[in-house]
Amino acid sequence: MQTTQRETPGFTNSRQYREYAVRHLANGVSSTPRTAQLPVPVAMDRALDAILTDVDGNDYIDYTMGYGPLILGHNPPEVVAALKAEIDKGFRTASVHRGEGRLAELIAETVPCGEISSFVSTGTEAVQLALRIARAATGRTRIIKFRANYHGWFDSVHVANAPGNDGPGSGGQDPKASENITVVDWGDAAALEKVISSDYAAVILEAAAVNAGCFAPPEGFLQAVRDLTRKHGVVLIFDEVITGYRLALGGAQEMFGVTPDIAVLGKAIGAGMPISAVTGSRAVMEALVDGRVMHRGTFNGNPLSVSAAIACVERLQRDGAEIYPRMTAQAAAIQAHINAEAAALDLDVCANGVGSAVQIFTGVRQMANIADLAKADRSRIVRLTEMLMMNGLMPLPRGLMYLSAAHTDGDIEATMHALSKGLHAYA
Ligand code: PLP
Repeated sequence: MQTTQRETPGFTNSRQYREYAVRHLANGVSSTPRTAQLPVPVAMDRALDAILTDVDGNDYIDYTMGYGPLILGHNPPEVVAALKAEIDKGFRTASVHRGEGRLAELIAETVPCGEISSFVSTGTEAVQLALRIARAATGRTRIIKFRANYHGWFDSVHVANAPGNDGPGSGGQDPKASENITVVDWGDAAALEKVISSDYAAVILEAAAVNAGCFAPPEGFLQAVRDLTRKHGVVLIFDEVITGYRLALGGAQEMFGVTPDIAVLGKAIGAGMPISAVTGSRAVMEALVDGRVMHRGTFNGNPLSVSAAIACVERLQRDGAEIYPRMTAQAAAIQAHINAEAAALDLDVCANGVGSAVQIFTGVRQMANIADLAKADRSRIVRLTEMLMMNGLMPLPRGLMYLSAAHTDGDIEATMHALSKGLHAYA
């Protein structure tokens, strides 16, 4: 679909909305990163497939895709139909219902480690449940996480999220809550080997470091982590909140051929509805099955979200052989185009990518590996994404772009022109 982008988008209605919202809504948004957008956090009115339309009538080819979940686009017919059918049956919130069992079965069919599953609403909650299961299963408390990996905003893991800061990611965090976390450099198996021991309950990581900047794991890293965790009886948790059902049907564990004990799934599994899952081997999940771990939540496994997730996973199971290679090729083309244009314009800009995700960096011309993150100048990325937005593209303000099954060849062609114009305006 072609956009009807105006030459110079106006943001009068978005600005007026923000003035209204901040009167009673904290910071005018419901999640802090949404305030980062320049020239103003744009308020959206509606969406169709891969196109977002704001309250001023400007169209954008969307690359936020809901910060990841919209793997099938904004209104995939099978998901919309499933939701409508479910609504017609009444909400049945917090009831036992057939969908939960079916979704768990679908996960078992598609995710290599996914023998036993349990559902919550957000990735943050799912990480907490996974850590609790690992602690109960091992009788240990300490956890290893990696620098610049993000695992949600709860105090126990919201540390060392950004390069250069090993501490808490927010004011108001209880420093004691993360006392049992040891932080290691992602991609560095030797560093892990130095600290890991049978004192630890779990190692948790993003198998592909999308939050850090779309890094695929270095050759042999995941296997080394698997071997070390097995050697010390430590539970290996892949946080696949982004990568699950996005990099491949079976997520990063399928793509890179290493199976963890537990995976945390979120975002894409629900096609935009709030649902996340903890899934793992029967042996480790036994701590939840036998009641050692308390798992509560009014909205866990709510029928609406579950119906969307079933429709989404069934579609990906049916069409994934076509969808995943197409999204990956589109992402690679976008990445290559940004790098070529940046070189032609002699800009300190480059793009990195893994699967259907692309990360743009400012202040640096090459991002060979995660150690190069320190060279990037993050302060300028919001200005670059503003220029892309002005030209009809909607990446995340921090430069991350997600593809979806709804991005057409026409969208990608229009994206290439818009990228060129946006980079030129940034230069
Ligand atoms: N884990 C990873 C890898 C994530 O990227 C996120 C969110 O971006 C989370 C966990 C937390 O998920 P949620 O925002 O649904 O709580």
